[in-house]
Amino acid sequence: MTSDLPPPQRWLACADLQQEVYCHLAEYVPRILCQGGGMAEHREEQREEQREELALQLLLLAPLEWFLPAGLALLQQGGGAAALCGHVFKVGEPTYSCRECAADPTCVLCMQCFLASAHRHHRYRMTTSGGGGFCDCGDAEAWKTGPSCQNHTPADQNRETEEDPVSLLPPAVEERSCSIFSIILQYAVDLLTWEQEDQLPAGLEPPRQRSDSYYCMLFNDEVHTYEQVIYTLQKAVNCSQKEAVSFATTVDRDGRKSVRFGDHQFCEQAKAVIVRSTSRQSKPLRVQVMHSALVAHQCFALKALGWLGQIIQYSDGLRRILCQVGLRPGPEGENSSLVDRLMLNDSKMWKGARNVYHQLLMNSLLMDRKFKKLFAIRFAKNYRRLQTDFMEDDHDRLVSVTALSVQLFTVPTLARMLMVEENLMMTIIRTFVDQLRHRDAQGRFQFDRYTAQQAFKFGRVQSLIGDLKYVLISPPPQWSQQLRTKFLDGFETFLDLLRCMQGMDPVVRQVGQHIEMEPEWEAAFTLQMKLTHIITMMQEWCSTDEHVLIEAYKKCLSALSQCQGGLPDGEQPISLSLAGHTVDTFRYQVSQEKVSIHLPVCRLLAGLHVLLSKTEVASRLPEQLPLGELSPHLLIELPLRCLVLCAQVHAGMWRRNGFSLINQIYYYHNVKCRVEMFDKDLAMLQVGASMMDPNHFLMIVLSRFELFHTFSAADLRRRYREANKDLAQQNTLIEEMLHLIIMVVGERYVPGVGQVELLDEVRREILHQLCIRPMAHSELVKALPENGNKETGLERVIDSVASFRKPGVTGRGLYELRPEWSKRFDLYFHHYSRADQSKAEEAQRNLRRQNGEDTDSPGHHGNLCCLFGSLVNLLQCDALLALEGAVLQWAVEPSGGGWTESMLQRVLHLVAMALLEEQQQLESSGADEDVSFTFSTRITRPGEAPSTSGSVLALLESLQNAPHLEVHKDMITWILKMVGNIKTTRERTSGSSVSVSHGRRPEESVRDKDKAERKRKAEMARLRREKVMAQMSEMQKHFINENKELFQQSMEDLEAAATATEHSLEPTCVAHICVGPMRVGGAERRQLVTCILCQEEQEVRGHGRAMVLAAFIQRSTVLSKNRSRGIPDPAERLDPLFMHPDLSVGVHTASCGHIMHATCWQRYFEAVQQKEQRRQQRLRGHTSYDVENGEFLCPLCECLSNTVIPLLPHACSPDRSVEHPCLETWLKRTNQQAAALGFTHRKQSHGQSPAGGGAISWCSGVQVGVCCRNSFSSGVGEMINTFSMSAYKVGLKVNPNEQDPRVPVLSWSTCAYTLQSTERLLMDEKKPLFGSLPCRQDDCLSSLTRFSSACWTAAPIRTVQNHFIRLWFLSGPVLVPIPDSQLEDAPCILDVDMFHLLVYSVLSYSSLHSLDQSGRRSVDSAHLHLLHLVTVAHLVQVLLTFTTGELSMDQDGEESEEEQLTCQLYGRLRDHLGRCLPDISCGWRLWRCVRASVLPFLRTAALFFHYMNSASPPADLLAAGTGPGQWEALCSYLSLPSNLLLLYQNQRTLLEPLIHRWCCHPGVGQVLHGGGVLVRFPRESNRLIDLPEDYSILINQASSFTCPRSGGDKSRAPTLCLVCGCMLCSQSYCCQTEVEGEDVGACTAHTFTCGAGIGLFLRVRESQVLFVAGKTKGCFYPPPYLDDYGETDPGLKRGNPLHLCSERYQKIERLWRQHGIAEVIGHAQEANQTLVAIDWQHL
Ligand SMILES: [Zn+2]
Ligand SMILES: [Zn+2]
Ligand SMILES: [Zn+2]
Ligand SMILES: [Zn+2]
Ligand SMILES: [Zn+2]
Ligand SMILES: [Zn+2]
Ligand SMILES: [Zn+2]
Repeated sequence: MTSDLPPPQRWLACADLQQEVYCHLAEYVPRILCQGGGMAEHREEQREEQREELALQLLLLAPLEWFLPAGLALLQQGGGAAALCGHVFKVGEPTYSCRECAADPTCVLCMQCFLASAHRHHRYRMTTSGGGGFCDCGDAEAWKTGPSCQNHTPADQNRETEEDPVSLLPPAVEERSCSIFSIILQYAVDLLTWEQEDQLPAGLEPPRQRSDSYYCMLFNDEVHTYEQVIYTLQKAVNCSQKEAVSFATTVDRDGRKSVRFGDHQFCEQAKAVIVRSTSRQSKPLRVQVMHSALVAHQCFALKALGWLGQIIQYSDGLRRILCQVGLRPGPEGENSSLVDRLMLNDSKMWKGARNVYHQLLMNSLLMDRKFKKLFAIRFAKNYRRLQTDFMEDDHDRLVSVTALSVQLFTVPTLARMLMVEENLMMTIIRTFVDQLRHRDAQGRFQFDRYTAQQAFKFGRVQSLIGDLKYVLISPPPQWSQQLRTKFLDGFETFLDLLRCMQGMDPVVRQVGQHIEMEPEWEAAFTLQMKLTHIITMMQEWCSTDEHVLIEAYKKCLSALSQCQGGLPDGEQPISLSLAGHTVDTFRYQVSQEKVSIHLPVCRLLAGLHVLLSKTEVASRLPEQLPLGELSPHLLIELPLRCLVLCAQVHAGMWRRNGFSLINQIYYYHNVKCRVEMFDKDLAMLQVGASMMDPNHFLMIVLSRFELFHTFSAADLRRRYREANKDLAQQNTLIEEMLHLIIMVVGERYVPGVGQVELLDEVRREILHQLCIRPMAHSELVKALPENGNKETGLERVIDSVASFRKPGVTGRGLYELRPEWSKRFDLYFHHYSRADQSKAEEAQRNLRRQNGEDTDSPGHHGNLCCLFGSLVNLLQCDALLALEGAVLQWAVEPSGGGWTESMLQRVLHLVAMALLEEQQQLESSGADEDVSFTFSTRITRPGEAPSTSGSVLALLESLQNAPHLEVHKDMITWILKMVGNIKTTRERTSGSSVSVSHGRRPEESVRDKDKAERKRKAEMARLRREKVMAQMSEMQKHFINENKELFQQSMEDLEAAATATEHSLEPTCVAHICVGPMRVGGAERRQLVTCILCQEEQEVRGHGRAMVLAAFIQRSTVLSKNRSRGIPDPAERLDPLFMHPDLSVGVHTASCGHIMHATCWQRYFEAVQQKEQRRQQRLRGHTSYDVENGEFLCPLCECLSNTVIPLLPHACSPDRSVEHPCLETWLKRTNQQAAALGFTHRKQSHGQSPAGGGAISWCSGVQVGVCCRNSFSSGVGEMINTFSMSAYKVGLKVNPNEQDPRVPVLSWSTCAYTLQSTERLLMDEKKPLFGSLPCRQDDCLSSLTRFSSACWTAAPIRTVQNHFIRLWFLSGPVLVPIPDSQLEDAPCILDVDMFHLLVYSVLSYSSLHSLDQSGRRSVDSAHLHLLHLVTVAHLVQVLLTFTTGELSMDQDGEESEEEQLTCQLYGRLRDHLGRCLPDISCGWRLWRCVRASVLPFLRTAALFFHYMNSASPPADLLAAGTGPGQWEALCSYLSLPSNLLLLYQNQRTLLEPLIHRWCCHPGVGQVLHGGGVLVRFPRESNRLIDLPEDYSILINQASSFTCPRSGGDKSRAPTLCLVCGCMLCSQSYCCQTEVEGEDVGACTAHTFTCGAGIGLFLRVRESQVLFVAGKTKGCFYPPPYLDDYGETDPGLKRGNPLHLCSERYQKIERLWRQHGIAEVIGHAQEANQTLVAIDWQHL
């Protein structure tokens, strides 16, 4: 009865709402959703999908919405703007964080919020999101200041108070939404967690007959590759490659996809095949055969969750209701709420389902303050189980519910609450420790037996450390008692973890033979690296509370004593005595027993100890500390062993232990680990030394360094020296030990050890980096330990220590140390590696010499904190004095081997440090105080070490003038002087301050110094000379050829200059003219060139040995005004004779300018080919050049080349004796010739061959068929042919075919195009037309032009004549009748580029002229007449396309002659074409346009005739500018009247019919009416697209860019074409296209349409420029975006704001316009072979 009602009404009335809704769903869901999910490929499927979507909306979702009372929109208004942004990030979307205000680096803003926030003016960080996560705008805990942007600032602050938003809802809405939400959520959870394949949850069984349809569902895993899946699918379900790709893409994206639909058996078959064929290497792909109704319900469940997500956006109240429903405990009690069920089943769900419900969680629970907390508790309670599931799951963490930890744990209040209530810290650490089960007998981690599976798990378990880091991000502002307890519990658990690491991976020195297998070491270091931050954070937490610090210290100490329980191990202690002191220690030798680098418990204790000193807890509450329990001997033991190990490795004692040990030592010191490794070991030695008798400390150090006997009996050493060959080894150990002592006493820059601030430590670090050399910002950042949560502090000190030097067009900005800071340089800085040390020493020595400063003396190291105060006593203890005495004693003997310079240097440094300490104490003490530091008096006492002959002081005095110690002389002198000063001070005993000036010295010392200086300088000079000589000879070897050529060149230039001056003296020769009978130049200048291969000199002659120029020829669209004109299929008969003025594709030729004999080159090229064949047999792979396509590298400069241009002699001088026929005569003759030839050719092609091939006379003076083509030797002819073929092959992309009539056209074409592009460059760069090109380009154009004027000789003459005739019909006035068919064949004047026409006509005319019996003399007149005709045609062309365009002011006053004539001509054109042309009476504007448009044509023509006729240019054209002088000079150089209109005006009667014909071509009207491509003049030069100043705009654009092929999906690698601005979906299967039979990526495909094979792209997400050439070549190029420190950021790793550097962008643009991209790629690939292996075509 109620079933007639629409569902909502029915539902309102019913008793059991759930049953009703389920009934409805059971009926409709399987009927509507029958697509099985996933993407539709074909149009029909798409339509089907649309229908399905509509039904879904109408029948399923709409009833749900109706059920809620109307007025949802009203609710939204009432709710006010949400205080949180919560925008969920898409993959690749830009995110912003503030380095100054973010609570931690995970706090980010979306672009909208960022732009409206205060942080845009702060130092911000920009990254691209990996997807997931949301905008933290509005979260007060995420930001120290400015938590909300303008859009999310709460309207009124009162709303902040916690008010239940549900109470604002109307009661009916509350009730109904509550019930419908719980039904829908229940439904969705049931289905998503459903595990049966063939059954449905209760209540959802379809009411009618169950259909027998199934899906074969394929699931995603992270094990199989795309290729494997695609291959398997093709086999299993018999689909095409394309379908398989689509399936695989969907599986990867959504996590599952049905690959087959049908009955059960049909699907089972497919499943069996898939499982079988993927189970071989790994576990098989997961496949399920599922009933179609189940799949339909699952699809709808996802839609329903999406719907819920939308509905709750309407109001905070609805959101909270959903939260309540989700967290309401279910009937099964614990863990039975719907949200719990989802979380606990997370690892069983497919990717798409997880994404949908994670998104819903983010939109609901995480957006509600109250429920976020409740959810966090549920999450923490389930933490262990979720993590365990995640370990077994093979999906990325990104799609795991565990990844939500970042949203919860990074909120400090939540984290602390969870710590207190759920004991979170301990849970995380316990879970972590439990996952690493492999232990050795002592319970330590053991990674070396890991299987691949365990290693994989080890990788996943590391995310737990990340969680721990989140929890610890910010230390609490206040501690509660509970928090203290829980933190200390956690700390204790953490100590358990560290105890498992203490002593892991121990090593034993290998003697005799090398280790067989490198032991595993990386896992342990990975763990150490990951934990480094945690350890630091633990200490930070401890430092904020006295009680916690003291308790933690106690716990740590007891953990350490447990670890070290067995250390002395009941062995008999041994007794050591030195310098009257005795100490007991136990027997242990690093070189013989086990030693481990991993000592985290010791190091944590060292850190805490320093904190005790820093926080002054130690001095205030000593009674609470177990300081008495400390045994300093035990404390220093393990760290000391570790440091000795390093020293022994340096000394070469552990060579047989292989690289694994070297790597471990490297990381021990590396910036990533050293804070909690090396630094802490040093600190521990400082702790121990400050608590021990310094003599005892030193004796133990000596003993562990295995050097005790060396010093305890100095004569022993002599004996030892004789017996032992490893003296060098021992010397290194002594050096290392002395260095260690220097560091123990001298390193006082850690707050707590010395009286310094944190920033002093950072400053010292930076300063010492910059002492090595100036560095870029990123290098400095890398040199500082990265904390992750905090800034390194670099920013706060950098400007005080360094000055910034901006980068140029290449390179990066650098910081340079300010000179005043170099005084703080400490050679023994503890973070210097040996290499750093010597580099820094060298750099600082040079610097001081430059500034004429004294030698360095160590600076004072600042004051120690009181806990470490006794450290200084090390400097004056008897043991050290004995040690110093021994070294000085050895140094008396000059003979090598017994001691080393660095050893002595270190001892002197220690002495100097002690003296400075004493001086410092004297200065700061009051008059009455007694200074206990008495080094200066101690060193006057004779040494107590055996066989020491005198006191340290006496030894120093005796060494002062030792000739073999010249280098140390300054230092010794300084020390002695210092001793004297201190003595005087002490004697004076008054409090008056004593200043010891380091600068003043006695006279003789100055002289000594000068002498030493001179000697050192001489030595340096000698070294430098040697280096330069070596470089020179190297250079000579490489470039001798080039030098020769340069020499040659300059000689020629000199000659030319000489002749030029001669000429200018001749009064008769005034004008420079390049064309026509009056042209000057082309003299019989001899051209001498040298072959770079055989070094022989050769004259260039037509009949001589052929010489060639290495050249690279390529297609180009740089000048294109129309990229949409596709390049026609090469097979098609493309007619290249008429170049369209849009210049859509041209052929460009470039050369490196290196000349070879043709024969030499051929031999070279054959060798290259053979080498390549041999190489290919061995290994298949690419080279940077493609030999099969004729590519090679220039043998001299390795420039990419693919052909050679033959060198031809200069043109002959014009014969001034012949008369110059006037235009009319010449026209008549040419017409006759053309008509005669046309006639003959037609007759020939009709089969009537001319008798005997001889001449046919058609009318008087004209003969056909005569030729004179023997002006070249066969060698030259062959090279002409070679280049012609290359131009043909590349230009048309066809196979070589000498018979093709188009061959000569392509040669002319590349000449014309290359000249045209050169002219554009010169014009845009405002360079003079002549004289500014680099030599190589000048040589290239010159030989190219001369070649093209001769290339017709290589083609059949008839072909060339035919070309001329066709060109003539367009450009020449036809006075004799010609067939209409040929007339129609001619294109319209608007479809022809006039410069190409000019070049082709001039060059093909030669074939006609060869008929002329008057010989070659009248050819110049013809060229001039052709130039005139084409110029007129261009004038007409320009006027026809003239557009009124922008309105500019009319010129006042008289019209000039040009303007009047232009108007007249325009009037004539209007007479012909009528209304097609606008009515313009303003001559000034017309003329201005004509002039601007014709100028490029004239300039290019001038270049052309200049090179063709070798005519020297007038001085005006050698200067830059476009002024009137230029115009005049240009016209006169071209033998044209400077009023160009006169060309027409003076020959009106002759030209009028021609103009008539041009205008009346049907094409003209058509084009003017918009029926074709209309190119207007002047043509503007092409530029690369404009890029935004701020890089984030690009990122944002790219993030909203969707793949054009896969319906709305985000593109993974959006890539911007810099030429046309097109955004592409690169490096992805979806956008591959087939080009010439191969699948290529979007970039490669795009280069073929946009750049004729050359492409320039910006990979937006990587911030990287990509150059591509063809299918196999490419390289990366630095992007034009720089950060404020003048550095690029490839991969956006640093995230500094990036801004456009226009100079760099211009550089890229110039590269492109110069056609230099292919060359850059070639060089890059030669320099870096890995670039060759990249599959560029898939980008
Ligand atoms: Zn936002
Ligand atoms: Zn906002
Ligand atoms: Zn900020
Ligand atoms: Zn040669
Ligand atoms: Zn070269
Ligand atoms: Zn493009
Ligand atoms: Zn795509």
